[in-house]
Amino acid sequence: MKLLEERIRKDGVVKAGNVLKVDSFLNHQIDIDLMNEIGKEFKRIFSDVEITKILTVEASGIAIAAIVAQYFKVPVVFAKKSQSINLDGSVYSTKIESFTHKRVYDVIVSKKYLSPEDKVLVVDDFLANGCAADGLIDIIKESGATLEGVGIIIEKGFQDGGKRLRERGVRVESLAIIDSMNDKTGEIFFRH
Ligand code: 5GP
Repeated sequence: MKLLEERIRKDGVVKAGNVLKVDSFLNHQIDIDLMNEIGKEFKRIFSDVEITKILTVEASGIAIAAIVAQYFKVPVVFAKKSQSINLDGSVYSTKIESFTHKRVYDVIVSKKYLSPEDKVLVVDDFLANGCAADGLIDIIKESGATLEGVGIIIEKGFQDGGKRLRERGVRVESLAIIDSMNDKTGEIFFRH
């Protein structure tokens, strides 16, 4: 998506450790006009499938998923980071290792909000090693719902999450794929 690539080039900051900061339009301040264009683009890309729920993980995914969901006219469900153990069996749960925080979270989704009839689109801001996507896919599997695809705003193509998911047959659609980036020069190269 050209508009997104231009914005990443203009405002993205490459940090050491393969981290791209996009706080000025995505992860801290949010450019709503850009998010609406992103929502329209995901709707166009996934127009061939029926979607009944959008699934993401808190916190950064929520605002993005909420705007995208307006174009699909479906609810957003977000997996919650949880400290409590699933004692009464009322939630689906899995573990997600955070790329940016380097720790493992238990995440849960109430059984009330995902069921075998659901056709789910996973939406997230970044795809790096694929741990967040893996966790959300585990939860979809546990619920018996159908995974229709994964919509990612920025995929770091030099990390293996996207490759692994596609090899497993998961439909991954990323609006910008970064092939390489350099924290010394600030250069970012996109895959086309
Ligand atoms: P993964 O689980 O695929 O390794 O990482 C994806 C998650 O980590 C995303 O939900 C995102 O919040 C965070 N993340 C991974 N890489 C980056 C990055 O380069 N920049 C930012 N801002 N977040 C990232």
